[in-house]
Amino acid sequence: MDSQLDLVRMSPPSLVEFCKDLGINRFYLVYDSRSGVVRASHPQLEPWAQFLGSDTRDFMQHEGLFFQITPQYDTLQGAFIHCTRRGQAAGGVRHWTYDSVEDFLRDGLRLSKGMTRKNALAGLWWGGGKGVMARNPEIDTGDLDARAYLYREYGRFISSLRGCYVTAEDVGTSVEDMASIFSHTRFTTCIPGDFGGSGNPSVPTARGVISGMEAALEFMEMGSLDGKTVAVQGMGNVGGPLIGFLFDRGVKKILASDIDPAVVTRVQSQFASHTLEAAVVARGDAAILAAECDILSPNAVGAVLNPRTIPKIKAKIVCGAANNQLEDALRDDRLLFEYDIRYVPDFLTNRMGIVNAANEQYGYVKNDPLFERHLTRDWQHSIFQTTLRVLRKSCSTGTPTAEIAMRLADRLSREEHPIFGHRGRQIIESLLIDRWHQAGT
Ligand code: NAD
Repeated sequence: MDSQLDLVRMSPPSLVEFCKDLGINRFYLVYDSRSGVVRASHPQLEPWAQFLGSDTRDFMQHEGLFFQITPQYDTLQGAFIHCTRRGQAAGGVRHWTYDSVEDFLRDGLRLSKGMTRKNALAGLWWGGGKGVMARNPEIDTGDLDARAYLYREYGRFISSLRGCYVTAEDVGTSVEDMASIFSHTRFTTCIPGDFGGSGNPSVPTARGVISGMEAALEFMEMGSLDGKTVAVQGMGNVGGPLIGFLFDRGVKKILASDIDPAVVTRVQSQFASHTLEAAVVARGDAAILAAECDILSPNAVGAVLNPRTIPKIKAKIVCGAANNQLEDALRDDRLLFEYDIRYVPDFLTNRMGIVNAANEQYGYVKNDPLFERHLTRDWQHSIFQTTLRVLRKSCSTGTPTAEIAMRLADRLSREEHPIFGHRGRQIIESLLIDRWHQAGT
């Protein structure tokens, strides 16, 4: 393998083969803040380190990227640790199909950086990280035994990282999968309620999106959700309950789309008495983004807001749960601003999933005030108030909204945990000293 590009352009299964041929089961890429260099665990992966070190868009000095190849089912599993200043890197694990290693890497990097911002902006004492598993196309994800194995193995992997990353549920992962992870690690949240966990975070996430929409309407002096038309892309764990909350608030019409016919049928039958126009679409179909509506709510996948879609958006407000909606954070944030579309940054409005799980280890309080205050209209750090602050500052300074929110979040993410300081960094250093990548070989 003689170039960076060969190594990142290959498909995840080819990378797995490449590593197995070299006898590599675990590997890492760690940023050395003193030298400013990315270090690879193995010389053969050095091109990968150079690729990341020279990337100016997504790498953003991640503290550490750790990977393993599962002993069975040849699946590439990763933990992306962006920043642990405010606490352990926290963020869900995604199980997804990637065409190339570059896609896999960029998704993990962007999601994990987004978690740093989300957690900091919500005032949580968590750092930012993300787990990503590249789906092996040879494995049927409906095979429950294979699935349980992959998530147990992921739990074992997380345990080996000694707590610098705490995982949670995300796209492609269910509460049952979280139980499999929990059987092999204590460094997870979103475990089932029967095990003392906080369960599925999606309904709280949908409630948070409603708060963001209401704040944007207030800022625009457009009144309440009552009588509005909303377009919803993705009708899954967040999109489905969101549709219910919107109808509860008197929304007149919802236009919705999903790529999964079963999901569309289920949600349609749930809201049969309401004006819900739902369509099954192909994966690349972006027509819903151009729908005639007051609010557009992306709740499916990332990178949907880009120069191809933004000029067609008719909504005045974009507010949804999908992570990393902007294909290029700076460019597309500015483009939305230029088109006079109020964009409520995803990492601001979709925080409630992580807020729901954040205090899981401290036990439960009914109607927990530490949770509910994020959804109030008056707490200064609530979604509503933070959204209003961001929109007002954007307007008064002529700066796009995500840039304002990012600056605020980045300032907060540099604060160190009041008790533990930058402990995650110390854990990563100890993993390297103990040659983590050679354990179990
Ligand atoms: P999900 O997998 O339950 O739902 C996503 C839905 O989008 C699925 O039904 C899928 O079929 C559909 N979809 C995929 N591609 C599509 C496309 N091109 N057009 C239309 N539909 C498409 O996931 P979720 O938990 O509802 O999360 C949705 C988004 O919100 C994700 O980006 C996730 O990262 C983000 N998010 C979720 C939470 C949470 O608590 N679940 C928290 C924060 C952020």
